[in-house]
Amino acid sequence: MHDFCFRKNSLYCEDLPVASLAKRFGTPLFVYSSKTIIDHYSKIKAAFKKLDPLICYSAKVNSNLSVMKLLVARGAGLDIVSGGELYRARLVNCPAKKIVYASVGKTDREIKEAISYGILMFTVESLPELARINALAKKLRTKVDIGLRFNPEVKPKTHSYIVTGAKETKFGMDADTLKNIFLRRRSYSHLNIVGIHIHVGSQITESKPYLAAIKKVKILVQQLSREGISLKFFDIGGGLGIIYDKEKPQTAKTFAEKVLPLLKEISLKVILEPGRFIVGNAGILVTKVLYLKDTSRKKFIIVDSGMNDLIRPSLYGAYHKIVPVNKNSNFEFRNSKLADVVGPICESGDFLGKDRDLNVKEGDFLAVMAAGAYSFSMSSNYNSRPRAAEVLVKNGKAYLVRRRESYTDLVKGESIR
Ligand SMILES: *Cc1c(COP(=O)(O)O)cnc(C)c1O
Repeated sequence: MHDFCFRKNSLYCEDLPVASLAKRFGTPLFVYSSKTIIDHYSKIKAAFKKLDPLICYSAKVNSNLSVMKLLVARGAGLDIVSGGELYRARLVNCPAKKIVYASVGKTDREIKEAISYGILMFTVESLPELARINALAKKLRTKVDIGLRFNPEVKPKTHSYIVTGAKETKFGMDADTLKNIFLRRRSYSHLNIVGIHIHVGSQITESKPYLAAIKKVKILVQQLSREGISLKFFDIGGGLGIIYDKEKPQTAKTFAEKVLPLLKEISLKVILEPGRFIVGNAGILVTKVLYLKDTSRKKFIIVDSGMNDLIRPSLYGAYHKIVPVNKNSNFEFRNSKLADVVGPICESGDFLGKDRDLNVKEGDFLAVMAAGAYSFSMSSNYNSRPRAAEVLVKNGKAYLVRRRESYTDLVKGESIR
């Protein structure tokens, strides 16, 4: 469910017409619905109510401060993957004890900053990282809580780039490595190993890979318990899939029903790290049609937004629905052929959608749907294009939560030598 709906022939975000937002703030423009974000967060919360988990929103998915604040203000913690995200977490006053920090490549500086802030735990992804955090904690004369990221060797059905729980990926450690670390835990004098973490992938529509991974964790936790080793946290990561096209993903409720029995047996404090599920369908990218180009082979709808704003189609071959913001446009570009919706970037991989049946004319606005997750946060300045503006609709009003970049923003920090 989301709050982007047509009334008559016009697309609305909550109670505001998207066309007027596009005129007021310009295009390309990301528009987010606070109602949808809160609704999705509440759905996860309700589904797992019995366990009272800590829900750490995955900041990398949409790291706009206002989006993060919406969730933090409602009790969410944050799952971070960099020092920059820790900086954002501080700006939105996220309590330190609600922050978990994963990433295979934490730098010394990032580790020290997170230790000083007093985060709940690091999710450690390798042996050398474990030694490094131990050494840095020693230097800072403190003891640090950590979780170990377990690579459960499951392969969810999703794009290979977003499978993270398979053996051949760089993430986490295998069961034997984990066991060895636990058995040798006293050699890490400045670490408390308090948790176990999994994150098997993203845009996962079924519960199977989760169940397989959680079962492996259960075995591991039981083995450790026999060795007298007890843990506090089990972080099951994120990954819940959403509807982009014709997917029929598990709902928060059906997902919870499947995994709750196992989680109860493991009986550790559960941490969830949802990202896409919360914000994916809570955002759209609004773009303007610049030109209609008809060639003998193909038809192109050239728009003012491209892969620098939304790289998912180019990077993953991801599908995003594209709809006219006003359906009553004159049919100038009749659908004799299907059209590719392409951007101005000098790359053939620069497209937002392929073979679409769209009747539009120059100047029309198009909405690229489900662009709330991994969209702005993955955007770039490629081709020296200022990044898009972001608007949050909240309580009947539209707030500019990130202004459009200017040309001077583009060269900020550069010098001519
Ligand atoms: C990216 C990420 C998430 C969020 O994944 P979604 O599929 O967006 O829910 C959660 N945990 C970790 C460790 C991640 O890297």
